[in-house]
Amino acid sequence: MSDKKGIAILGSTGSIGTQALEVIESYPDFFDLQVITAGKNGDLLIEQAIKYQPNSVVISDESQYQKVKEALRHESIHVYAGERALCEVVESNEVHTVLTALVGYAGLKPTLSAIHAKKNIALANKETLVVAGELVTKLAQEKGVNIYPVDSEHSAIFQCLVGEFHNPIEKIYLTASGGPFRGWSHEQLKTVKREQALKHPNWSMGAKITIDSATLMNKGLEVIEAKWLFNLKPEQIDVIVHPQSIIHSLVQFEDGSMKAQMGLPDMKLPIQFALTYPDRFPTTFPRFNFVDYPQLTFEKPDRAVFKNLELAFHAMDMGGTAACILNAANEVSVDAFLNDKIHFLDIARINEEIVHKMTNTLNPVYEDFVESDKLARLHATKMVN
Ligand code: NAD
Ligand code: MG
Repeated sequence: MSDKKGIAILGSTGSIGTQALEVIESYPDFFDLQVITAGKNGDLLIEQAIKYQPNSVVISDESQYQKVKEALRHESIHVYAGERALCEVVESNEVHTVLTALVGYAGLKPTLSAIHAKKNIALANKETLVVAGELVTKLAQEKGVNIYPVDSEHSAIFQCLVGEFHNPIEKIYLTASGGPFRGWSHEQLKTVKREQALKHPNWSMGAKITIDSATLMNKGLEVIEAKWLFNLKPEQIDVIVHPQSIIHSLVQFEDGSMKAQMGLPDMKLPIQFALTYPDRFPTTFPRFNFVDYPQLTFEKPDRAVFKNLELAFHAMDMGGTAACILNAANEVSVDAFLNDKIHFLDIARINEEIVHKMTNTLNPVYEDFVESDKLARLHATKMVN
């Protein structure tokens, strides 16, 4: 095994994945790219493989295996396809850290495989913790595996905790930009179009998370993610809208002191810190200038209009498989919205109905999550068609 840190990126063709490749490319003496994977974008995966020369690639969509294999026939790169391969490649001895940058429930199984194989996790795929946070964090603890957050808010909390891990947290504040519809009424949201929802004011991200940011579901998922990452009680987590996205989140300690992590919004920073922790590597990212931001402002999120946020708090309180059900319903409803099958406000309406309709299984094991996810998708699919 080389001295360099072997990295596997699950979902290398996405927004986080491509930025992670840039980070890794910047420190060739420190990182050794072992694995890259894609869901359906075989062409970009081929391009990335030729450029970055990983040891292995996986294309989840098996129908593209021949194309990828053929295109890489002159390279010394192993080519695999399918979900099982995704779980197996992360087990390689050469892999030290697995960056989970794929989107949705699909991240759960490979993340569990990586933890079983005692790989550290740089976690972007928040849905994994939303669906099965207890299972995942318990297994990580058992295996002595660290989970380093990539989500900017959770990275902010984590950065505030460095040097403070022994001090209890009184409370955390997750900051939210408020998305493109901050301040809008229920009435105004009735006519929202897909293109409007896909325009985030401060961040450029994949389609699913961009819609989640517009409905505030993203913040809801992050609340649940934070509960599991930092072992918090629901009442210790608050959300505050901060439209400038400069303060990435805050921790309040038991003496009343608050620590915040700040900077210009750039996902490369949290991606990099998750891969280089405990060190900070020099970057040339643009620096924050106080004069450009004479005002940093804060407001309460509107949980009555943006019902998904309320719903996520509710699912967190319910425990069991409730958050798994909510996540599955949301994946289906967001996809339907992106395909112009339903209106913007239908997303939260469908999510709410499914969370209330389905049975919550308490003290769930892995199979319960699989079953709840499947059933919730079935119900949601019927509702969007
Ligand atoms: P994206 O849609 O841009 O990319 C997703 C990646 O996963 C792609 O490589 C895609 O090919 C792959 N993929 C998708 N479905 C798959 C499946 N079923 N099986 C295997 N691979 C699959 O998404 P993104 O914006 O990069 O987000 C990735 C994750 O990171 C999400 O969980 C998101 O919530 C989280 N996140 C993203 C950002 C951001 O700035 N983009 C910020 C914080 C957290
Ligand atoms: Mg975030």
